[in-house]
Amino acid sequence: MDKTVDFEYYNTLMVHSVGNRVGPIAPVMAPSAAFGYENAEEAEGIFAGTVAKPLYARVGNPTNGKLESIVAKMEGGIGALATASGMGAMSMVSMAILNSGDELLCIGGFFGGTYSLVNETLARFGITNSFCEVDDFDHIESKLKSGIKMVLMESVGNPSLRLPDLQRIIDLCNKYETILVIDNTATPILLRPIAMGADIVVHSSTKNISGHSAALGGIAVFRAVDQEKDKLLHPKYADLHKFVKKMGNKAFMAIFKKRAIRDMGMT
Ligand SMILES: *Cc1c(COP(=O)(O)O)cnc(C)c1O
Repeated sequence: MDKTVDFEYYNTLMVHSVGNRVGPIAPVMAPSAAFGYENAEEAEGIFAGTVAKPLYARVGNPTNGKLESIVAKMEGGIGALATASGMGAMSMVSMAILNSGDELLCIGGFFGGTYSLVNETLARFGITNSFCEVDDFDHIESKLKSGIKMVLMESVGNPSLRLPDLQRIIDLCNKYETILVIDNTATPILLRPIAMGADIVVHSSTKNISGHSAALGGIAVFRAVDQEKDKLLHPKYADLHKFVKKMGNKAFMAIFKKRAIRDMGMT
């Protein structure tokens, strides 16, 4: 996949896809929690996921949908899910994938909220962790070999500012079939971890993505899943296989929507 970014193309794409070419140029906001349906058949299709129309704002809203499609394109992902905050996106991703008894590998230093999520909250639910420096490849490889389910890191450590050799870590996680989540808050557009082979990218859109300090938000972007051959089909992810079977390349979307957005309400 192309790792380089054409800034003019992206600037144009983002500006022109936010609004509408015909009719109102600015994006139309949909401040609605509930949505009406044409008839019972349409409602059934929406509930079953075969009709792509809004169901209920906890599980999707057209305004969020606009943001999600733009950030997914920006990151080279197949889809994205917007959340209430950056911490909402971190919680969504970790709580939807990890189970009690799993172990998380944390590479580098973390933003304070993420550190507390991992060390206190996830630990309270029986999810253990270990931390290592960004260049401690012996530790990284031995943890991956042991069969852990998830690796978490920041593209640029906040506040440590340490820069990881991202491609080397991505390649290791792919070799050992382990989900890699990258908090790309510091480097939207400048770095595209999904195009480099990572599985999930998380942003606090409160920061560089919105840029004006007036809107709290978060978003997680994910890659396409291969229904025939994918690390999600590894036996250690057995409880996720049903999502791959049913949803194919959009399996991550289904996992997060069902297990976090719908059940926990991180909207
Ligand atoms: C701010 C920040 C978060 C948390 O985002 P909120 O929108 O404040 O919840 C997560 N990661 C990094 C790197 C951040 O800077």
